[in-house]
Amino acid sequence: MKNTMKALIFPEPWKVECVEVPIPEPGPHDVLARVVSCGICGSDVGIYEGGHWIVAHGPGGHGHESGCEVVAVGDKVQGIKPGDRVARMGACYAQYTTEVNVVGHGQDQATGALPIVRNDLTCDEISFADAVGCALNCAERAELDRITGRKPRAVILGLGPIGLILARILAMRGVEVAASEPFAHKRVLAARSGVKVYNPCEFTRARHGRETFVDAILQDFGPADAVFEMVGHNQTLLDAIALVRPGFRVLVFGAQSMQMIPYKECRLKGVELVYPEAMVNSKSGVDYWTPALDLLAGKNGPKLQVMDLITDRVTLEQAMHAFEHYNREGWIKIIVEPNRD
Ligand SMILES: [Zn+2]
Repeated sequence: MKNTMKALIFPEPWKVECVEVPIPEPGPHDVLARVVSCGICGSDVGIYEGGHWIVAHGPGGHGHESGCEVVAVGDKVQGIKPGDRVARMGACYAQYTTEVNVVGHGQDQATGALPIVRNDLTCDEISFADAVGCALNCAERAELDRITGRKPRAVILGLGPIGLILARILAMRGVEVAASEPFAHKRVLAARSGVKVYNPCEFTRARHGRETFVDAILQDFGPADAVFEMVGHNQTLLDAIALVRPGFRVLVFGAQSMQMIPYKECRLKGVELVYPEAMVNSKSGVDYWTPALDLLAGKNGPKLQVMDLITDRVTLEQAMHAFEHYNREGWIKIIVEPNRD
């Protein structure tokens, strides 16, 4: 094996480079893994654009939606061997990595947690564990099990990858879901899971009291037992509060750059805002990695389908262009394959 590898670095906002760096040496407690799949997360785009609270200037960047194959293990590592497929490696916009997750996207470095071996899943499937874990985190905190005697109703505002995954998880749990999303290809995917979809841009002509998509959802679907705000705009948060039943919860997932707490609107309706911190393991002692991986494997029930969310596969070099021309209108999940030529 040669001793250098290709990796992306993000030296400053709006800049991404592909560099040749030494392959990291695994220490006694480390796992050296070959990166097979690494999904581009919204947070990676935020870091590239400079608007994110995480900065990741080292080789491999923040790439954390990874599915990797173990190449070597330190002599103190037990239960992991070369050839194993593993979840939760970080700095994965690179051909190899020894990082377990990345600072800011979990607590793994603080707890010294090891990668999770999942030979029952493909590396593509494993790469979705982070997004699925975030969606599970959101779904759990909605406390929809408070609803008995009828199907709970949820509204999702924004069908990015996590919104789409959340829609599928809720549908699998027997929740009735409505969603708003301006881009047609995302609405089509959600509609296939039985989600009632709305285009917020369609309501430019007021007619019969349906002036906005909020009116339309309230008329067709009724107030929701939980609303998931997956966008991060002040207006979407106000829409979410308008759509939720008094006394119930709005889950603010798109909170990265949210600067507003609509206190009055919440008090008037008795609505609780919950900020799930958008992470797979954001709360100490709560970890959605294994439930997410089990769901992807169909271990304790039906298998969560995610492969149709992949809209493109790119090399590290092509990934630079993907960051420079990020296409929110056409893409859902882009998988980077650092070891493909
Ligand atoms: Zn992520």
